Amino acid sequence: MGRQFFVGGNFKMNGNIKTIKDIVSNINNAKLDPNTEVVIAPPSLYLLLTREHLRKGIEVAAQNIFDKPSGAFTGEISADQLKDSGITWTILGHSERRTILEEKDDFVASKTKAALDAGLGVILCCGESLEQREAGDTVKVVTKQLKAVADKVKDWTKIVVAYEPIWAIGTGKVATTEQAQEVHAALRDWLKKEVSAEAAEKTRILYGGSVSEKNCAELAKQADIDGFLVGGASLKPAFADIINANQ
Ligand code: PGA
Repeated sequence: MGRQFFVGGNFKMNGNIKTIKDIVSNINNAKLDPNTEVVIAPPSLYLLLTREHLRKGIEVAAQNIFDKPSGAFTGEISADQLKDSGITWTILGHSERRTILEEKDDFVASKTKAALDAGLGVILCCGESLEQREAGDTVKVVTKQLKAVADKVKDWTKIVVAYEPIWAIGTGKVATTEQAQEVHAALRDWLKKEVSAEAAEKTRILYGGSVSEKNCAELAKQADIDGFLVGGASLKPAFADIINANQ
């Protein structure tokens, strides 16, 4: 069996009670490809509201967790607390956290382990800066980010990898289908060598970075692109078209 198409919506720090209810109701009322797995990630304050209003069959993700189960960690949320609240996924290692919050590969890996140990699914992000791409270091950078996780985690069945070139995020400058496919194939090759042939075959690798209803169909046709992590466009009704990109 092939890999199930997967589309994640990353709201980032956007929305309020009203707009999030509207987005959720749009998703609830849209005709969505039943073969696509859909997960949406609102800001943590709205996780429960989203879970309460979102239709069954669509899962909710946090945008981050801390790597301890409980304790004196002011401002943080644990994987166990998410699980307890019916939130079954988390995004980890998003480039905005790696750059603005200075999260290191090791910390992302430790959080990935904590999430998996608690039974959550993980959308694990990786991606290079424009400078790194121009220096020819793209594959080196993204595989180093994943290697930190592979050092701590052997079972990749609940990990979905999201390749998100930093220069394409929120810029309207989407990677070409060739650029994306090339990195996705390299990631799959890396998974085969460093994790297992099974992980390479089964792990979904998403593309993220200025995905829209206009460019998603072409990207979805690429052999190693198994879905998308969508930022800006996930806040709009056109998100439904992206979910349906594989039809
Ligand atoms: P974008 O963001 O779709 O707005 O470029 C993608 C992401 O950061 O996950």
